[in-house]
Amino acid sequence: MNKPFPTSSRRTELTNDFSWSSSRHRLFNDCQRRYYYNHYGSWGGWDKHADKQAQLLYRLKKMTNLPMLIGSLVHQTINQVLLNLRKGQPVPVSTAIENTIRDFRRCLAESERGDWRERPSKSTNLFEHYYGETPSPLDLTRIEDRLIGLLDAFYSSPILNQLRSLPSYGWVTQEALDSFTLDGQKVWVSLDLAVMEKGVMYIYDWKTGMEHRADKVQLAVYALFATKRLHASLPDLTLRDFYLDSGNVVSVEMDSETVDETISLIQSSIELMLEKLDDVNTNSASQERFPLTDRTAICRQCSYKSVCFPAETNEMVSKPPQQLTLSF
Ligand code: SF4
Repeated sequence: MNKPFPTSSRRTELTNDFSWSSSRHRLFNDCQRRYYYNHYGSWGGWDKHADKQAQLLYRLKKMTNLPMLIGSLVHQTINQVLLNLRKGQPVPVSTAIENTIRDFRRCLAESERGDWRERPSKSTNLFEHYYGETPSPLDLTRIEDRLIGLLDAFYSSPILNQLRSLPSYGWVTQEALDSFTLDGQKVWVSLDLAVMEKGVMYIYDWKTGMEHRADKVQLAVYALFATKRLHASLPDLTLRDFYLDSGNVVSVEMDSETVDETISLIQSSIELMLEKLDDVNTNSASQERFPLTDRTAICRQCSYKSVCFPAETNEMVSKPPQQLTLSF
């Protein structure tokens, strides 16, 4: 049932509350300054009356890059394909590819026009355009070929066959941003798909990048969520990363030892993050307590590099986005 509209016209004030997630953990480990910009410096920067630095950091936080854009477009398409499947309206692979390529071109055009200057949270701002690394028409053709390959891999997988024969009660949750509580702290998860079949819960994560050690941690966090919020039991839980580039499906079965290790990892990660705060009660932080990383490879790909290294990046950023002659 839909919730009734609030009777008061007063909007609830947003507060920057502390929480944990696998991606926040990775960010903290990669570069603490970047973590600070993402979770503290950019806070409130969506407001045109906020100070200029917060507005700039917010725009940079919302920036994406081509690999991330490929990932989010593929996730979006798979989600729509599965929603339609559940309604008994299967989407042909040609339609899924056509829609994804259309969305990719729309995002590119948005980024080239610089729509994000006015609407940073709604319009695509590509790192490659912003930092003068404009992709060539050949690069764009290769990306489109890759999008086609990733969706072909999904369509030809046994996973889709399994889902086609799933009864409606077998679908547990899909593309859901959800949370559980650990020691009083909120832990966020974003599950691509969870289904039940013959008493086993399968949790799927679609991957458009290379296999990475951190992927297993992410699955272990999903296992915790499933036991706490979806009433799953560990012996009846199978977690699967589907690497669409290679077609590899990596299945992970969780035992209580791995789950305990994951709980310890989250607890110590939260402790390190909280130690950095000026005041834990108000979740307030000061930039100087979050050092810049010395790993230059991370900086080269970081959207905040114009803030950390203005002398090196000023010239690139001040150029207007280059208009491309696209090969389509
Ligand atoms: S440019 Fe480097 S130091 Fe600065 S936030 Fe990014 S990763 Fe950290």
